[in-house]
Amino acid sequence: MQTVGHSEHTLKTALISKNPELVKQYEQLDPGEQRLLNEAFRPCSDLFGPITLHSPSDWIISHPETPQDFEQFFSNLHRKSPSPGKQTIYIQCIGQILTFLKKKKPEDAFCVVGVTMIDLYPRESWNFVFGQASLTEGVGIFSFARYGTDFYSSHYKGKLKKLERKSSSDYSVFNDYYLPEATSVLLLRSCKTLTHEIGHIFGLRHCQWLACLMQGSNHLEEADRRPLDLCPICLRKLQSAVGFRLRDRYKALVRWIDAESTDTPRVTPKHSREELVTLPKPVEAFKEWKEWVTRCLAVLQK
Ligand SMILES: [Zn+2]
Ligand SMILES: [Zn+2]
Repeated sequence: MQTVGHSEHTLKTALISKNPELVKQYEQLDPGEQRLLNEAFRPCSDLFGPITLHSPSDWIISHPETPQDFEQFFSNLHRKSPSPGKQTIYIQCIGQILTFLKKKKPEDAFCVVGVTMIDLYPRESWNFVFGQASLTEGVGIFSFARYGTDFYSSHYKGKLKKLERKSSSDYSVFNDYYLPEATSVLLLRSCKTLTHEIGHIFGLRHCQWLACLMQGSNHLEEADRRPLDLCPICLRKLQSAVGFRLRDRYKALVRWIDAESTDTPRVTPKHSREELVTLPKPVEAFKEWKEWVTRCLAVLQK
């Protein structure tokens, strides 16, 4: 199996940079945070490893892109950053696509992300309807329909029967859509996609440094291969955009896994008038990831 190899020096520069201001900023992080982030270039780290290549259809081989290091991210004046009045990430379940598209973004929204189990691309030619361009506006719609275990089977029940579309704003074919079973694998895949796409909204480009949530993926097998968390270089980008302590973030992630779905506090967002329902939260597939997060916490707290 091939891997994308970078020297210790390359990874160190991608993370810390050579810009004296950014080096200073890095040195001001607490020692535990530096110890964890430095794992990026520690040979034989058991927390972060190289990107593996399995086939010519893998993203890195088929979509050559310029890599983005921390300095390039930091100095991009066009990236979207949360501001004091706009720091809420709204995640909305959409049943009615048209209603969602027409709704105005709440005042305090950093971004609004719609998620749906409707297959948004029943035909290749429909891709343009929900383009990537919306990401820069802080609005996106993502479908998890293809993440169910039965999507690619011949007896998939969600296939659209009629495909005529009367106009570009006619979404009636999406009415009465099929809902696959909420399995742990479906939840894991959906969390990966959602956090990857929100990463793009913050200005994180595809990662070419280490195995990372921000790696591009071309197909489901490749998406399954990428980890659920960020490499140190992307983690520093997100930390610099959002402002959090690494320890608090990892602890919150462990809390999310440990909390039973029924115990999860029902926080009603300011702008939602809809009733919140308790959804199933099967987390068996997150076990390995929780162990990894726990090891990161141990490095932070050494
Ligand atoms: Zn992407
Ligand atoms: Zn990364």
